[in-house]
Amino acid sequence: MGRRLAVVAAALGMALAGLGSPMAARAATAQRSDLPSGNTEYRTIADYEADMAELVDEHPNLVKPITLPNKTSSGRTVHGIEISRNVHAKDGKPVFVTVGMHHGNEWPSGELTMEYAVDVVENASRPEFASLLAKARLVVVPVVNVDGFIANKRQTATKVDMNRNYGFGWLPISTGGAAPWSEPETRNIQWLLSTRQATTFVTQHTCIQVVLYPPIQLKAGPTQDVARFQDLGTRMAESYGPSYRALDSAHDYETTGEAIDWAYFATRGLAFTNETCPDEGVERTYETQVADAYEGHRGAMLKAFKSTADPAQHSVISGKAPQGAVLRIAKDFPMYTQPYEQPDGTVRPTEFPTSLTSELEVTDPSGRFSWSVNPSERPIPPYQKDGLKGNQTGFYTEPWTLTCERPDGTVLQNVPVNVGLGKTAEVDLQACARNFQQ
Ligand SMILES: [Zn+2]
Repeated sequence: MGRRLAVVAAALGMALAGLGSPMAARAATAQRSDLPSGNTEYRTIADYEADMAELVDEHPNLVKPITLPNKTSSGRTVHGIEISRNVHAKDGKPVFVTVGMHHGNEWPSGELTMEYAVDVVENASRPEFASLLAKARLVVVPVVNVDGFIANKRQTATKVDMNRNYGFGWLPISTGGAAPWSEPETRNIQWLLSTRQATTFVTQHTCIQVVLYPPIQLKAGPTQDVARFQDLGTRMAESYGPSYRALDSAHDYETTGEAIDWAYFATRGLAFTNETCPDEGVERTYETQVADAYEGHRGAMLKAFKSTADPAQHSVISGKAPQGAVLRIAKDFPMYTQPYEQPDGTVRPTEFPTSLTSELEVTDPSGRFSWSVNPSERPIPPYQKDGLKGNQTGFYTEPWTLTCERPDGTVLQNVPVNVGLGKTAEVDLQACARNFQQ
């Protein structure tokens, strides 16, 4: 809702305790909805930003702001928030990333994403959220395509469909952009998922009743983690309602260059496109698309958040390092578009680098750490250097490189770490410990 109502509330002199904030002012009105915010109409971009700033201000140890590194093609900044107990610590918790509005005219996708953030923050002390926030992190970017949202258009200001611009399996279709990753908005999500251990990723859309997972093309064949996708996907669909179903995106309709395809094949985090829509024949309003849809969305997000925290759904690196040491894991590998006609006339894929990196600070005086990460084994992708090779069933054995560093960045030890899904790898960092204080 918005500032308008907040202004009215202020003008009415509602200077009661706790009514100093826009969200509290909204909550005090008779028009309050059942949504966590109490809103009764769509936010503007200023509302989103004010609401995120308010959550940060009022819960400084629980919520921290994220500024995505690239401005939109119109020069606007994209904002998000990170939510966890002791949110500023680099403590190695697994991460659930959820984003809205790849398509700027799908307003309910931003609202549902933002309402979940408000819900988790305002109800952080309730047992179901408290235990999750102790074990995992939630990262929320409600409006990833800010220019499109402001213009109420599906595409970005450069007329590119963000969800056709991801480099993996990219083809030069009319809305795919001039090149893979050509759009700053797309590169923002690449950064978001490459710089933390996002073990679950949900990108919210409208207007179908479906939970989609990779692949996005039939020729690619089922992914190596199809059973895990079906399990969580089906459970999320059940929360949304009896007419929702879960299926691979290729069987909904085929596309290229989508977020979930790149996300899964780069990180092995489970990546979903959740599409919500009212039942057929029901008018599409704020009430039906946001207020009525939220309860189902909340249930789906709770399942995704729980799956994020479940050690069976990621990997763990544990060990002992000097208190104060910085540990970093990284890997670099090439990924490929599909083959298409290059400027020199040859038909071949474009290679692009993928670098995953994240860090942990050892804070416990004992030096013990436990780091929830994505498995080091990477699913062999269907799009390769020599073209499409579908129906892959294997994984690359591709260790994380773990470095143990002084806070000034001096690397004291390098260790390759192979760790499978649901497994724990214990690393020996005695060399780092010996040299740390010198
Ligand atoms: Zn969409």
